[in-house]
Amino acid sequence: MLEGCTPWPADRAERYRREGLWRGESLVRLLSDAARVHGPKTALVGGGRRVSYAALEDRARRTAAGFRQHGIARGDRVVVQLPNCPEFVEVCFALFLVGAKPVFALPAHRHSEIRHLCELSGATGYVFPGLLRGFDHPALARRIQDEVPSLRRLFVLGDAEDAGEGSVVPLSEVDADPDEGPAFPVPDPSDAAFFLLSGGTTALPKLIPRTHDDYTYQVRAAGEACGLGDRDVYLATLPVEFNFTWGCPGVVGTLRAGGTVVFADDPTPEHCFPVIAREKVTITSVVPSVLQLWLEGAEWLDDDLSSLRVLQVGSAKLYREVAERVEPVFGCRLQQVFGMAEGLLTFTRDGDPAETVLTTQGRPISPADEMRIVDENDKVLPAGEIGELLARGPYTLQGYYRAPEHNAKAFTADGFYRSGDLARLTENGDLVIEGRIKDVVIRGGDKVSATEVEGHLLTHPAVALAAVIPVPDQFLGERVCAYLVAEEGAERPTLPELKKALMERGLAEFKLPDRVVYIEELPLTGLGKVDKKALGALSRGESLPEAGTFIPARTNAG
Ligand code: AMP
Repeated sequence: MLEGCTPWPADRAERYRREGLWRGESLVRLLSDAARVHGPKTALVGGGRRVSYAALEDRARRTAAGFRQHGIARGDRVVVQLPNCPEFVEVCFALFLVGAKPVFALPAHRHSEIRHLCELSGATGYVFPGLLRGFDHPALARRIQDEVPSLRRLFVLGDAEDAGEGSVVPLSEVDADPDEGPAFPVPDPSDAAFFLLSGGTTALPKLIPRTHDDYTYQVRAAGEACGLGDRDVYLATLPVEFNFTWGCPGVVGTLRAGGTVVFADDPTPEHCFPVIAREKVTITSVVPSVLQLWLEGAEWLDDDLSSLRVLQVGSAKLYREVAERVEPVFGCRLQQVFGMAEGLLTFTRDGDPAETVLTTQGRPISPADEMRIVDENDKVLPAGEIGELLARGPYTLQGYYRAPEHNAKAFTADGFYRSGDLARLTENGDLVIEGRIKDVVIRGGDKVSATEVEGHLLTHPAVALAAVIPVPDQFLGERVCAYLVAEEGAERPTLPELKKALMERGLAEFKLPDRVVYIEELPLTGLGKVDKKALGALSRGESLPEAGTFIPARTNAG
């Protein structure tokens, strides 16, 4: 077990094994088994390539041997930031073979996030694209290498040209004969295989260790819950680093089932519909804002989408009026998904009554998943009442990586994870997400930590106080709104000026405020915290309480 990870307690681990949930199956075995059974079949399609199962395994083994030659060793952490493409899968499985642990970063992440991920994980390697959407990733990588002493190896997707000057190795040169070096280690199934990122309530994302046992079980159970088989073709159109895309059942579940994974690097209907028609995609997963685009696209695009069997929608609230249009427009089944990178997944199922599919997020994928809805004193509430959702189970984490202080607050004494989501259970045991208590904006499918953005805003010399809240948005569900108190006498920066300043600080673009409102003082709750509910009311045009408590503007000195 990697230092900094929290194991499952022995009694529960024993139970999960006894019940056949954890089968000691590693992700390395998952691929070799699939390659043995489905060798010549197409495993991956994307970036102009079609990769068979046999070729994927071969490529992963050669890349693994190459990584070893370039100094990547068992137990090393390697930040992987790639667009949706077959190479993402090849790199991850190569690292699994070496026993190194990929740390998933989003292509949209910039200096602030990548530096943090490298530092927190103590990464020795970083894999990134060349110039992508106008951004020079190799230049960023070289800068971070100067700042983070552990980071010794840089790898770029592409050729020498993409590497630019300096010590960046093109992935095309990460290649060696796997039979020449020592055999690859056999992974311990209870060890962390890779790290997902938390949707974040804290200023910076936390790392979620996912073990071989827990993730192979998750993809198996998720696959069963949507009837996934070897004839399925999964379209990965949301970022592949999302848990939703990677393993619900997503890319890994499809490979386990012997299906085909097709990558699209742009979720718009203009881009995805022809891919669905050409590759006969049967299943895909989208967030509600992308679903809305697809519903609009279906009105004027005439691609044949009749191969679609299941459309999974999750990651943010899906409104009933939108949900109702899925089956008539696409002729396929809607599957609502509630999920979190930390673990617990609930799905609506084939055969559920229409009302359940339209208005709930379904039931857990595992019989061993435990959900509790509790009040603020952790008292379990009766069915139907709204409270915080707590979760525990065979693929729900027991602790964030290297975060003992945060873990002490994020889990109950008996190991339930506090999701920060407000939910209720219907009489049939279906979950309905009703809101959240965590300080996060869910913008489209992206999770934006309010604390993180506030921290960056406060570094601006003209900003004295900052509070970030979600405001409703017809298309994205929510947008990021910043309430600011300006320094006395300072000129108030405009929204474009603030955005520019935050971009210069290396913040990912999806986290930038969409709206800024200047205010004289910030309202406070009775406990002396910023009253974000009052700000929410203000954003809806209601006024602040007259006799409330306010934080007076202070100076930024110090
Ligand atoms: P992430 O770990 O980035 O997948 O984010 C997990 C969070 O996304 C959950 O804790 C919820 O706040 C939110 N979420 C996921 N699925 C849904 C859903 N179906 N409806 C509403 N919120 C959701």
